[in-house]
Amino acid sequence: MDCIFCKIVNKEAPSEIIYEDAEAVIFKDIHPKAPVHFLVVPKQHIVSVASDGSERIIGNLIRVVKKIALEKKVGDYKLVFNVGEEAGQTVPHLHLHFLAGGSELKI
Ligand code: AMP
Ligand code: ZN
Repeated sequence: MDCIFCKIVNKEAPSEIIYEDAEAVIFKDIHPKAPVHFLVVPKQHIVSVASDGSERIIGNLIRVVKKIALEKKVGDYKLVFNVGEEAGQTVPHLHLHFLAGGSELKI
């Protein structure tokens, strides 16, 4: 399957992975929109929040985010899911944006 995030998960494409476990990886966004911008990505290919069965996977992504925020001592952060092209989803593999950087985060 020609999915860039599956390729990153399988180490077939380069990325700066900062965390990995059996179910998820976190890597730096290639075009950061905040001083800290990570993508939290399930290893399983699933298109988006709207996909059947996404709830368990999303719960796990949140668990991983909380762990990394504690480890990296990031107290305040923004989490974003883009769901569908019209909402700005460009990569059809579920991912959670983790953004941090204080005052630069206002939308
Ligand atoms: P979205 O617009 O919600 O689908 O977000 C996709 C994000 O993936 C964007 O912020 C891109 O900058 C990022 N992105 C796309 N390709 C790569 C890549 N090869 N490595 C890291 N981040 C990427
Ligand atoms: Zn994929």
